Amino acid sequence: MDISNIINHLGEERHQYFNTISPVQLNTSNFCFTNVQEMRGKLDMEFEVPFYTRGNNPTVAILRKKIAALELAEDALITSSGCAAISTAVISNLESGDHVVCVKDVYSWTEVLFSKILAKFNIETTFVDGCKTKDVFNAIKSNTKMIYLESPTSFTFNLQDIKSIAKFAKGNNIVTIIDNSYSSPIYQQPIKLGIDIVVHSATKYINGHSDVVAGVICSNSTMIKKIFSTEWMTLGGIVSADNAWLMLRGLRTLPIRMKQISDNAIKVISFLEKHPKIEKVIYPFSNSHSQYKLAKQQMTGSGGLFSIILKTNDINKVDSFCNSLKRFLIACSWGGYESLVLPASVFYSAHKNNIKTIPFNMIRIYVGLEEADLLIEDIDLALNSI
Ligand code: PLP
Repeated sequence: MDISNIINHLGEERHQYFNTISPVQLNTSNFCFTNVQEMRGKLDMEFEVPFYTRGNNPTVAILRKKIAALELAEDALITSSGCAAISTAVISNLESGDHVVCVKDVYSWTEVLFSKILAKFNIETTFVDGCKTKDVFNAIKSNTKMIYLESPTSFTFNLQDIKSIAKFAKGNNIVTIIDNSYSSPIYQQPIKLGIDIVVHSATKYINGHSDVVAGVICSNSTMIKKIFSTEWMTLGGIVSADNAWLMLRGLRTLPIRMKQISDNAIKVISFLEKHPKIEKVIYPFSNSHSQYKLAKQQMTGSGGLFSIILKTNDINKVDSFCNSLKRFLIACSWGGYESLVLPASVFYSAHKNNIKTIPFNMIRIYVGLEEADLLIEDIDLALNSI
């Protein structure tokens, strides 16, 4: 894959915009036509041409081409959030009476989509342990229309065997969707492994600067056209041209950001794995991870997100470790330039449901672009203070 050509040039029709190097930010809601006949013709081609920005916008179209190419997809749609990408792709492929098999520890709002929202429309979901491929296969019913994966999951870092599940689904006429936010297209390309639709929270690595909330849907042209001509125009979860422009800028450095972030994470993790106050580090590319072999098979890298389990029974120590960190901000999300911590202890008052699955002494750490040695020094001081 010619990554630099995709990132630097693909989709940039410079001659159409005064040969600008940086793409033009076309902040317009609508486009006009020289006469009614032209408008009538363009209305029939809304998928391909600018007509109204809820459907198509030239700045967004540049991004579509680049993201599709990075994911080895024929086409892509860019949405106003990762959740808009997930819900639009999912709803476009289901009808009342259908059944879905979904991984148990998916992103929390994805879980809500299946367990609460789609349930209102008579769509049933079975949640399975995605680490056990047999459990995925055994959950299939005669009305199963979709298998929804997230590999690795973004708090517990459980993987699914993408190739085996995609092959099985194809053989049974079941659509597969995967949330690939954790890896970015740089470290995992699920379409190559047989997946039908790839979605991302582009808020994370794809934009990478913590200043845009966005999502992407990638698939073959037929599927993208189907989504466009069904739920896309009605749900209306589009990205604005200015956010698409920021994402184009963010995308220019995606490969080097991923490399720096992974190198940093590996250094920080090797320090943490030896520390007496750490019970466990959970990171797909760590050889202590129970699915390390599978991770190496289907991913080419593992990014900056991982969890640690602190050796303590005291929730106050978890909080005070996080409070003592100077170089890690306490925040949700990840994938930006800045290092973050998200302690599971946060959920112990707000989302009581999570108590069962995530222990209070688990802390999700995101390592950003800072110098690894300084991050390690900061963690060491914070651990020594508890
Ligand atoms: N998927 C994963 C794995 C996430 O972590 C998130 C957000 O944190 C989402 C999807 C939703 O993305 P967004 O916040 O862009 O709607």
